[in-house]
Amino acid sequence: MDLSPDLPASERAPTDIAARLQWLLRLRWVVIPIFVASDVATDLLVGRRAWSGLVAGGALVALNGASALLLARAWGPAALLRWARIESALVVALPASLTLLHGDPSSPLRYAALVGVVGAAVVLPRAIEVALVAAWACAALVLGDLGALGPSAFAPASVARWAVEAGVVATVAFISAYLHALRERAEHGLRCALAGSERARREWETTFDSLEELVVVTDARGAIVRANAAFAAAAGARPRELRGRLLEEALAGHPERWWSALGDGLVEIEDPRLDSTFEVAVRRLEDGVVRVARDVGEGRRLHARLVHADKLAALGVLASGVAHEINNPTASLSGNLGELRRYLHAYESAFSELTAIAMEAGRADRVSALLGRREVAFARKEAQPALTDCLAGAERIRQVVTNLRSLTRRDQAGEPTQLVDLAEVVEAVAKAAASDLRAAQARVEVRDRVAVTGHRGELVEVVLNLVVNAIQARDGERPNLIEVELRREGDAALVRVADTGKGIPPAHMKRLFEPFFTTKPPGEGTGLGLSLARSIVAAHGGSIDVESEPGAGSTFTVRLPAADAEARAAGVPRAAPAPLRPTRLSRT
Ligand code: ADP
Repeated sequence: MDLSPDLPASERAPTDIAARLQWLLRLRWVVIPIFVASDVATDLLVGRRAWSGLVAGGALVALNGASALLLARAWGPAALLRWARIESALVVALPASLTLLHGDPSSPLRYAALVGVVGAAVVLPRAIEVALVAAWACAALVLGDLGALGPSAFAPASVARWAVEAGVVATVAFISAYLHALRERAEHGLRCALAGSERARREWETTFDSLEELVVVTDARGAIVRANAAFAAAAGARPRELRGRLLEEALAGHPERWWSALGDGLVEIEDPRLDSTFEVAVRRLEDGVVRVARDVGEGRRLHARLVHADKLAALGVLASGVAHEINNPTASLSGNLGELRRYLHAYESAFSELTAIAMEAGRADRVSALLGRREVAFARKEAQPALTDCLAGAERIRQVVTNLRSLTRRDQAGEPTQLVDLAEVVEAVAKAAASDLRAAQARVEVRDRVAVTGHRGELVEVVLNLVVNAIQARDGERPNLIEVELRREGDAALVRVADTGKGIPPAHMKRLFEPFFTTKPPGEGTGLGLSLARSIVAAHGGSIDVESEPGAGSTFTVRLPAADAEARAAGVPRAAPAPLRPTRLSRT
């Protein structure tokens, strides 16, 4: 934010030379007549050509003053100072040469020249310069007299003149020195005040620029007077560039309420370009408006996420309770359905035998009438598929229940960890999913055999979930090429599962790992796979990353800390390899 006072540069400069010189020039019109008058009085005292001295002295003083004023007006204070310095140099040369030329110490020209140059010396900027000029003036008078008169210059009348002249010169020098001291003190005070105000300006500027709120001050026309860094960043400019621009113009493309709200109060603005919601406090000034905007979008999103997470947690507790309750009946349902299928087989073969016996006994007509009955024919045709469907449904319920229970039971697993060979895990999953992977021309590559410390079953679950997702990501028209790769990277084991399937839309990316988030049709997805995978990987001290481009495919990378030599040396038991049932692939 630019808070510098709106003053012209000359007024902000610590040394105001122009004003000071004007003041001293005015003073000269007081000091110089006194000087002339005293000089004339000296002449009168010694009885020599007083009036002609007065006239000549007055004329030179007027000439000098006028030239100084003209110089100051035409070329400014710097030229005047230069002129004053030249004049002061003449103090030494002029009176002494005049006295010598005339051979007469009482020549009016000598006094006139002296008066003029001493007066000019008053405007010199430093007290020491004025003192030097004064001293040289006195010395020049004495030297001139000595040159013109020789030893007779020490006559009482000459000495009296020197005394009066030196007194006047000293008075001028003293007054001038006093004024210069005053000025220097004032200048110092001014410099300190300006430095203080500059420091305060910088403090305020830094404070305003550190504010997260967007602050903008506009004038009565709606033009920006000041804006802080946050506002400038939102408007895509630098604070100084915004000065003088209309707010409407600086925020072109943003909602109109940014500039149309003019009354005191609080306005809520949904800004799609800044992808957030702002609460803008509008305050009217005498000739403008201050707007302070707070980004409340992120806070609200966070709150919504918290509420959502709360709901999910409650749902998780509920789900695990339900899963627990469903588990036993489901197991017995699956078991009984399996048995039923066996019974059906037995009935069917008995039925076939009975039919054969009936036909042998010549009762074929009764048998075919019986078999031809609609409900019997229907029952024989539908019983097997219905049972198969029931078994598939029961298996699915079992999977969902297992996933749900793994989700909530993970923390209390408490089973001892083992050294798990990830290569064996990847190979087991690849074998289980062999037919689907073959169809997807999958490339399974174990570059390094890396072991991790953990639970084999859970790690199999993670890789399997990713592989099943990759298989299910196929996109009708395009080939879905899958790559499963295991390698070591530093201290980590990396399992990468990539596909060229339909990809994941950006809006879904944030929600992928939420329990129950699924885009698959009912019966195909439960939305628990990734959430389970993430909680397992996190419990193993690892992480899952995902990169995806809609229409191009997705890559999931699991990073797990590789088991170090210490774990091997400590004799952590190795997990035994166990083949997976291919049916596991129908995870969902
Ligand atoms: P489910 O597979 O049962 O739906 P997940 O938690 O495994 O549950 O996956 C959640 C969602 O993430 C899926 O419904 C799908 O939209 C998306 N997803 C996961 N993996 C992929 C992938 N490889 N390609 C495209 N989408 C994916």
